[in-house]
Amino acid sequence: MSFKENIQALFAPKTVAVIGASAAPGKVGHTVVKNMQEAGFKGTLIPVNPKADEIMGLPVTKRIEDLPVGLDLAVIVVPVAAVVPSMEALAAIKCKSAIIITAGFKEVGKEGAALERKLIEICTAHDIAMVGPNCLGLLSTHNDNNASFAAGYPKQGSIAFFSQSGALCTAILDWALGEEVGFSKFVSMGNMAVVNEANMLEYLRTDPNTKVILGYIENVSNGADFIEQAAKVCREKPVIMIKSGTTAAGAKAASSHTGAIAGSDAAYTAAFRKTGVIRAGDMATLFDLALAFSTQPLPEGPGLCVVTNAGGPGILAADATEKSPLLHMARLSNSTIERLKEFLPPYASLYNPIDVVGDAPAERYRKTLEVVIDDPQVNSILVLLTPTASAQIVETAEAIIDIAKLTKKPIFVNYMGGMRIEPGVRMLGDAGIPCSIYPEPLIRSIETMYHYNLWRQTPAQEYPDIRRNRQKARLVINEARAKGATEVVEFQAQEVLRAYNLPTPNTVLARSSDEAVAGAEKIGYPVVLKIASPQISHKSDVGGVKVNLADAEAVKNAFFDITARAQRLRPEAYIAGCLVQEMAPKGCKEIIIGFKRDEQFGPLLMFGLGGIYVEILKDIAFRLAPLGRDDAKNIIREIKSYMLLKGVRGEPPVNFQAIEDILLTMSELALDFPEIQEAEFNPVLVNAEKAVVADVRITLSAQ
Ligand code: ADP
Ligand code: MG
Repeated sequence: MSFKENIQALFAPKTVAVIGASAAPGKVGHTVVKNMQEAGFKGTLIPVNPKADEIMGLPVTKRIEDLPVGLDLAVIVVPVAAVVPSMEALAAIKCKSAIIITAGFKEVGKEGAALERKLIEICTAHDIAMVGPNCLGLLSTHNDNNASFAAGYPKQGSIAFFSQSGALCTAILDWALGEEVGFSKFVSMGNMAVVNEANMLEYLRTDPNTKVILGYIENVSNGADFIEQAAKVCREKPVIMIKSGTTAAGAKAASSHTGAIAGSDAAYTAAFRKTGVIRAGDMATLFDLALAFSTQPLPEGPGLCVVTNAGGPGILAADATEKSPLLHMARLSNSTIERLKEFLPPYASLYNPIDVVGDAPAERYRKTLEVVIDDPQVNSILVLLTPTASAQIVETAEAIIDIAKLTKKPIFVNYMGGMRIEPGVRMLGDAGIPCSIYPEPLIRSIETMYHYNLWRQTPAQEYPDIRRNRQKARLVINEARAKGATEVVEFQAQEVLRAYNLPTPNTVLARSSDEAVAGAEKIGYPVVLKIASPQISHKSDVGGVKVNLADAEAVKNAFFDITARAQRLRPEAYIAGCLVQEMAPKGCKEIIIGFKRDEQFGPLLMFGLGGIYVEILKDIAFRLAPLGRDDAKNIIREIKSYMLLKGVRGEPPVNFQAIEDILLTMSELALDFPEIQEAEFNPVLVNAEKAVVADVRITLSAQ
């Protein structure tokens, strides 16, 4: 059997052995057997223990060697020293899958890590789908399978959850029991030595019992696999993830702005965006979204209708809706209003929010909702109820539940209050209608669902061909590497840019003031002079850049000035002379385009408004390579300063196409040369006509 088929055996086994089963209550080896029994497991359950004959009424097998060949699942709870020998014995009987609950591996240090590598070897050699080690186990409600030592077993449902944190599993399970939320699968991933998050996504994509996937991750074990699988599954079902614990590697000293700003969290955000994973910022949001996605249909449009029995709360909900960048308060059609007039009291408000007034009985809610669900402008509905003396809390809940059955539009309920609303809240929860005492989280859920629906419908991106001379760039990079350099000097880096057809200003290297003047005459005044030294990469820091030099005299003076100052401030630096450079036209905007290679996800491109304030304002956006046309368009529109680029007070907009081309080309460059660790164009000077890369820094990885 292949590894993929063996993952199936983890969830739907016919024969399960518990290695280290125990008759003593309280021991993990006891709880696992008990959990399997209480889940009503229909297959064969075999406790394995060398010293016992019978455990909880089940006959015991004494040695792994005596287990049936082709065993589906082994749950391992023996002490850490016995785990590797057990796995070896299981491999010998062709066991398909295993859950190693035992801890004491990678998470405790070197020795543990060595043991874990041994486990990986065994599993890889025999295609064993192994979950763990150091985990709580897993459960699959549609297979009556509770191969875990968790306390409690959720009811059947359509939410799958996998988590790197066992503690979080326990917490979510408890929430599920309290709220009576159903689950399809529940997996504590542990150290993810073999089965990882990408395997889980791949499996859950085709699991017919799973409608919504939740994941808690601290890191991914393989960035490329994660992206591939996540991108596939998100087109079919929503994946909601919570990510914590940014790695120390992200904070590593970096030589560019891009490196300093782009931590690993930015890379995860970009990976989620690229694949369509919905990121929950906190646990409350994760729960809200899990409920909303698993119970309600996706809104087909932005129009939300609020039906309320109180004015103030209705306005709160309307405010929250208007604040959302995607949703708006639906404009009800005339026929809806006419129909409402027929039965609503004359003092009711017929416009959205529809105020059915404080004395509204359940019937009035019912009739109103019957009308509202027919209005094509209404794509989602929020029912609001405050417990007035005449409010019929349970009857209104019943009416809402009935209406929800009649429509394909999502319905959310905001029962405000505490004690009196409790029976209604319970009833709505049981019927699968998301209910909260605040409107804001409900509106956020509706927004996220609508966003997901829109995203799912966006066609695949176009990845344009970039014309380039890779060999020419290769020569430059090889030459720098041959010298042992970790930075390609600016003059040479420009060669790389030209090989990729990127717009660079005319530039010559001048080793003397006379050469500088000659260069300036050739280029045409005004020019820029920049210090040229392999040791000085932040030129302005040493007064090494002078712009707008209008004549020979100015160029000469600037040359002496720049080189003398550089020598004084950096006596150790080798100074080749100055670059004489064509001046970009007046009125250009400065932007920054860079990339940094993320350990997990590869090149992470950054775009932002350039200049000296970039690290303070942090008005930047990220995308992972490869960039598609839409990425290039959207990354520019994502920054706050986009309006500046579009032009204010009658200014023309900058040439966006030129910026997009640079972004797409940089993405290609990053993929072509894995040895480029970071690259940064800062600034790119852009106006209405064109863009030019005025400064470039290329950093190579250590050899
Ligand atoms: P560094 O970043 O090493 O200090 P730059 O080459 O980026 O040096 O130059 C510093 C600043 O000088 C730029 O941010 C830009 O404002 C200006 N500048 C540099 N080159 C040009 C040019 N060719 N045309 C116009 N302005 C330039
Ligand atoms: Mg610069």
